[in-house]
Amino acid sequence: MANKLKKNDSIEASRGLITAHHGVEVEVAFATGKRRMVRVKRNSGHVVGDEVEVTGEILLRLPRRTELRRRDGGGGIHLVAANLDVLGIVVAPNSQAGFIDRAIVAARVAELHPFVVVNKCDLEDTALLLAGLSRVYAGAVSVFPLSAKERTGLEPLVAYLSQGHRGVFVGASGVGKSSLLNALCPAIDLKVGKLSEQSGLGRHTTTVSTLHALAGGGELVDTPGFRDFGLVDILTDELATHFPGFEEHGHLRCHFRDCRHRTEPGCAVIKLVEQELIPADRYAVYLELLGEVESDQREARSRGWKN
Ligand code: GDP
Ligand code: ZN
Repeated sequence: MANKLKKNDSIEASRGLITAHHGVEVEVAFATGKRRMVRVKRNSGHVVGDEVEVTGEILLRLPRRTELRRRDGGGGIHLVAANLDVLGIVVAPNSQAGFIDRAIVAARVAELHPFVVVNKCDLEDTALLLAGLSRVYAGAVSVFPLSAKERTGLEPLVAYLSQGHRGVFVGASGVGKSSLLNALCPAIDLKVGKLSEQSGLGRHTTTVSTLHALAGGGELVDTPGFRDFGLVDILTDELATHFPGFEEHGHLRCHFRDCRHRTEPGCAVIKLVEQELIPADRYAVYLELLGEVESDQREARSRGWKN
């Protein structure tokens, strides 16, 4: 039988990439351009982006370069995709404050390069948002202003992705992630503006994760469960290390290893704020976010989540 195959048996292992996950089967794309479905156990742990060796019906997963996870409302941890390089953080007017910082920290923890997409640049309100974000983030991450709806300003993002990056978009519902995926990759053909209706259907809607090659190069992963989530889970020590604006000053040499940069003696961040090398308003944002993340963590612990 298949699972008794030895190395020298006639069916050869071929290396492929998981490009779609349908729960009980995955689609594998091979270097030859061939694709086929392989059955998997429901919780086999395979995700889109996994590289595999396929021998008959057996999948051997190869080591991952990166893993991106999310938590659901009930505290369960899910792997979103494997071997991603970049995380696109999508915002539009009325986006939640703190979201970009949380998402940048989450990306850095997962060793993905974050970038920011400012969508809906066809609206007047967006100019103010863009000016503010460019001032804060321009030194730390790339910022791409565009309009997914009007399909304007897409070229720099297309060029960036074409450098061979594999990415996924995050952002609150309504910022235009489906519209953006449609604009960059017409083959995806997602419904736009239907989120609230869809979530009403809950688990009856099949959630298929897919990986799409872009015409000009690069790949985008679409995972419906991830697309819909607004808040990114991070921990206080991750925030303290990777907050955009701190990390850019290099390795922080605070007196205490677990310094939260609040009132601790010998804190390198407080010194940089005093020297005006870190702007006071960014430090204030950090302190506010730290308070939020601490209370998230307390709440999570009281619900019995593991950190
Ligand atoms: P998602 O929830 O993040 O996937 O957002 P959708 O792509 O479903 O878009 C939410 C709403 O924003 C829809 O009504 C879209 O038509 C609208 N929208 C998306 N992109 C743009 C844009 O660039 N400009 C404007 N004005 N509206 C947009
Ligand atoms: Zn410190």
